Amino acid sequence: MKDIVVKHERLRAGVGALLQASGSDEREARIVTDHLVEANLKGHDSHGVGMIPLYVRHIKEGKLRLNQHLRLVRDDGPFLVGDGQMGHGQVVAMELTDRAIARAKQQGVAVAGLIMSHHIGRVGTYGERCAEAGMVSLHFVNVGGHRALVAPFRGSDARFNTNPICLTLPATGANPPTILDFATSKIALGKVRVAKNKGEQVAAGTLIDSRGKPTTDPNVMFVEPPTPAGAVVTFGEHKGYGLALFAEIFGAALVGGLTIAPHHPRVHGVVNNMLEIVIDPARLTDMKQLKSEIDAVFAYFKASPPADPSAPVLVPGDPERLSRGARLANGIPIDATTWGELKAAANMAGLGAAKFEALAK
Ligand code: NAD
Repeated sequence: MKDIVVKHERLRAGVGALLQASGSDEREARIVTDHLVEANLKGHDSHGVGMIPLYVRHIKEGKLRLNQHLRLVRDDGPFLVGDGQMGHGQVVAMELTDRAIARAKQQGVAVAGLIMSHHIGRVGTYGERCAEAGMVSLHFVNVGGHRALVAPFRGSDARFNTNPICLTLPATGANPPTILDFATSKIALGKVRVAKNKGEQVAAGTLIDSRGKPTTDPNVMFVEPPTPAGAVVTFGEHKGYGLALFAEIFGAALVGGLTIAPHHPRVHGVVNNMLEIVIDPARLTDMKQLKSEIDAVFAYFKASPPADPSAPVLVPGDPERLSRGARLANGIPIDATTWGELKAAANMAGLGAAKFEALAK
């Protein structure tokens, strides 16, 4: 089936109305909508509007609480910990990030934790906020609340989740903010979902089946118990596995959040915990020198003759900027399955599929 291609303004209108119908106030609906549509614009459909059917289901099941705000549970010099109260992660994680930026401007550094948040979406969104404020930032995230999906290196079944990591640098004279933001699994689960929805196979070396054998069939991830599921593997073999392990401990245990350890409840929801370290680089070095070093290093890396002339060397953040430019101009493609799921979510939220489509298409 052909993709539906929509303009971002229309998608924002449809998704905003859908989220308000689901019970979010205007501000919350706008923040979540902007986050998701920006993820689509930047090419990360796995963390775009395709998440909404899950959110609406979780609202109905009481696993996502609407119109919540960050509740600070620790505030001690550079250290902050906020409880997201199982609210929309896009709201509470940004509330934490804004506090962490303010604290880093004041004290030079902020070490901030977010616990008990529903899905925070694309972690780069918070990294971008830090970089836009002239900060350097590091973000480690764990994912709990549901069954494990990713296998440890040398393992044959899932024991943790896609545990993303994000690292950022502020803009310089020649370069916009640098945002490195990825799941430590070989691919994000949302990308396995996108492949399943499109009826495509995933790349070899991405998944194992329930017997621990390599497979390219995305359906192994979407079976219901008691059928045993497959698992995604980590990127970079033992190195990606090591980073995932640290995201689990830094992102959750170090800030008082719940890890994926089996004695914690798995209520078939999504719980994200995050450690966010925000540094004011001006407290460490001369900013002019830092920026000129960044520019010199990037120019040197990018001058490497491309192995494939059609694919030049990039720096983190470039692919998202390229995608955003193209999708602003040409529209956002949404696969037919995801579009159908969005219409069903609009019905469930009380907006109605026809109204959603009239606004969004
Ligand atoms: P990915 O594999 O597409 O990697 C993206 C990163 O790699 C970006 O920083 C991008 O700029 C950089 N990159 C890509 N090509 C590059 C190149 N040629 N040269 C230099 N840099 C390059 O991302 P992913 O692992 O699929 O993750 C997608 C999103 O999913 C992320 O935004 C992540 O935060 C999000 N995520 C969220 C959760 C959650 O629980 N909230 C869990 C997992 C992933």
